[in-house]
Amino acid sequence: MLQQYCNSLTEYKRLKTREVKIGDLLLGNGHPIRIQTMTTTDTMDTEATVAQTIRCIEAGAELVRITAPSKKEAENLLHIKSELRRRGYNTPLVADIHFTPNAAEIAARIVEKVRVNPGNYVDKKKFDTLEYTDAEYALEVERIRERFTPLVRICKEYGTAMRIGTNHGSLSDRIMSRYGDSAIGMVESAMEFLRIARGEDYHQIILSMKSSNPLVMVQAYRLLVQKMDEEFGECYPLHLGVTEAGDGEDGRIKSAIGIGTLLEDGIGDTIRVSLTEDPEFEIPVCRDIVKRYEQSKVESRELKTVVEPLLKIPYNPFSYKRRETKPVEHIGGHHVPVVIADFAEAKTITHEDLNAIGYTYDERTDKWNISDGAADYIYTGDKQIEFGLPGTLKVICNSSIWKGMEDSGKSHPLFSQQEYIDDKEMLQQLHFVIVDANSDWVVLQALVDRVKSDVSIVLCIESSSRHAMASVRRLIAALLLQNIACPVILKTYSAERSVDDQLIHFATETGGLLLDGFGDGIWLSNDPKAIAQARVSGRTYLEVKNNHQFLNNTAFSILQATRTRISKTEYISCPSCGRTLFDLQETTAKIRAATNHLKGVKIAIMGCIVNGPGEMADADFGYVGSGPGKITLYKGKDIMKRNVPSEIAVDELIELLKENEAWIEPAMA
Ligand code: SF4
Repeated sequence: MLQQYCNSLTEYKRLKTREVKIGDLLLGNGHPIRIQTMTTTDTMDTEATVAQTIRCIEAGAELVRITAPSKKEAENLLHIKSELRRRGYNTPLVADIHFTPNAAEIAARIVEKVRVNPGNYVDKKKFDTLEYTDAEYALEVERIRERFTPLVRICKEYGTAMRIGTNHGSLSDRIMSRYGDSAIGMVESAMEFLRIARGEDYHQIILSMKSSNPLVMVQAYRLLVQKMDEEFGECYPLHLGVTEAGDGEDGRIKSAIGIGTLLEDGIGDTIRVSLTEDPEFEIPVCRDIVKRYEQSKVESRELKTVVEPLLKIPYNPFSYKRRETKPVEHIGGHHVPVVIADFAEAKTITHEDLNAIGYTYDERTDKWNISDGAADYIYTGDKQIEFGLPGTLKVICNSSIWKGMEDSGKSHPLFSQQEYIDDKEMLQQLHFVIVDANSDWVVLQALVDRVKSDVSIVLCIESSSRHAMASVRRLIAALLLQNIACPVILKTYSAERSVDDQLIHFATETGGLLLDGFGDGIWLSNDPKAIAQARVSGRTYLEVKNNHQFLNNTAFSILQATRTRISKTEYISCPSCGRTLFDLQETTAKIRAATNHLKGVKIAIMGCIVNGPGEMADADFGYVGSGPGKITLYKGKDIMKRNVPSEIAVDELIELLKENEAWIEPAMA
């Protein structure tokens, strides 16, 4: 019996799914979470594709996908597969199909798995908003049955597995006309194909619901699980991924938020992290995400965590609504989530130290320059700051120090939960209380009872539980159930040893809560040795000066990825594949350098015009490869400049931004 969309919202348990065999690899039904990637070479270039596939396998990929845009590439999969087997690599291969049933039918006889996109397997997307009557709609579904059934029968005969892979950006016009651009539309798109396959008694199926927006992606998977359970009484394995996640820190954070949120609830049997980087670089990120759920860690999570059961869910996990809170000063209510910078461990705090959290002091003018990614609060622990701070930065310090201050109005006290329960005085000014959601439930209830009548409190909730996200969520659910509207700061401490692991830890636990509408602020702290070691060894993709900057950047990137606070330009860039018409990594870097001061603008950089326009979802502007050396520029879904020579395409994109009042000069920004 599912609890809405997973086994339990309070106990860690993998969702039970059917077992699927892909070559010799078993997936689903509790098998380890498999990791995979996709090649970016031209599929007709056998040598290059074989070489890249081997690099992916040696990096740890358990499945490798290769694009097959037409019959000739599908046929060449035979040469690629034979060469790999000859060299001793037996990793299953997956053919990636869009638009071409005939290529799928060839590939299904050669490789171990085919991926079809239900948005374009039969339908050709025209961005038409036609109205379908029920009879017309049923006729369309019948047309799908006719075109899709031969593939199902071939897969059944050859023992080939299949992924029905829905993408948010490439829903068919038919689905869009009835369900709109929605998570439920994504689910229905896959369910139509799944019903046909089940009708043929074919079950070697995996499903995916990808989107470049982690919120849409998470909601679609949750709905899909619920729908499968309701309609079939069982679930098929799920392939998780955030599509077009981009590169660097942002790509990793977006992926960890989307994938990690679902894995924390036991959902997901295989993952792919889509980065605009070489595919073998995706594998360590997959590994870092998945290692939180290795058998030994899962056992200790299952055995050593007790989160108070939640019988009634007081929020809708399928539709985003921010928890309503009564603002205290600028926290909660309609205010964007705040960022707290943790300087408790710093020996001293100087003007220069604040550079790392977005404030640059100009001694000549005695003024502060404030960036879009500037923290709102600084937690100083037992220290006081001896110089004048910019007006947008407020101080939080420990209550013991605060009580002895001559001018206590300039800072805000932080109480431990016991200090708060014991203290009989009810403060009228903003005060913070730190709570461990893993505390005894009776103690938490006593605290919650006191919070009910406190109108100036902001709770900073952390958890020492191994199942931390669920335990924080449980405490926030208790606030909701008792109509307590105090703002909540999500506090996460990471003791992970590497920067990459810390990034994933923060993104998974904090991001998952923000996607459910919880959190009026974010406070990250860590073991700073990780960043120091990464800087010494050079093993980090992050351009950070120090630990405070790492934490501050990560906090703002998590808020951006969950779209709860926009502080920078958003890039939706495809991972590239055999269809790509230009150097995506180089072009993305060039566009990023020219536009990264355009806060809030969403720019898509897509490798091909076949899938690019459909996949770029809700981007404001698109830069899409339309032929060798040619770029087509979009505003939303509309073509604005066709076949621009690539040498001048970035300048033309800037012109387009200017024409649409989306450009500001970097100096002004
Ligand atoms: S949009 Fe990018 S990843 Fe998708 S098919 Fe085109 S080139 Fe390949």
